[in-house]
Amino acid sequence: MVSKKCLGNNGNNNTLAYYLANVKMINKKFEKFGKGNRRINSKDLKKKMSDKPYICSWENCEKNRNLIIDHLKPISADGSNERSNLRWLCKKHDRIRNIDYVLKRKIAEVKKLKEEKEKLLLQK
Ligand SMILES: [Zn+2]
Repeated sequence: MVSKKCLGNNGNNNTLAYYLANVKMINKKFEKFGKGNRRINSKDLKKKMSDKPYICSWENCEKNRNLIIDHLKPISADGSNERSNLRWLCKKHDRIRNIDYVLKRKIAEVKKLKEEKEKLLLQK
């Protein structure tokens, strides 16, 4: 958000242009940071996985190409990068796994919203 203070001093577009340029720069920095982080992690994770059989861990799937490292307990849910929390999945099963996780989260969110709505309806 652009504050009045930020635009107010000379009243022309220069301040806004400066502000927008800064936002762009900051976004770029974060992008770089994110990519760098992922690269380091993925190399580190692959090392940890080197002695696990390179085959999809999904039941009855025998794909053994282009596998992805999956966190049994996702990082976003406080899962760790420990070897015991990692397994190989093919692209299809990784996608199914991610969809399941998002659905679980959304369902919990909807439940919470419904509860909040019920509470509000009961209020006088
Ligand atoms: Zn699979």
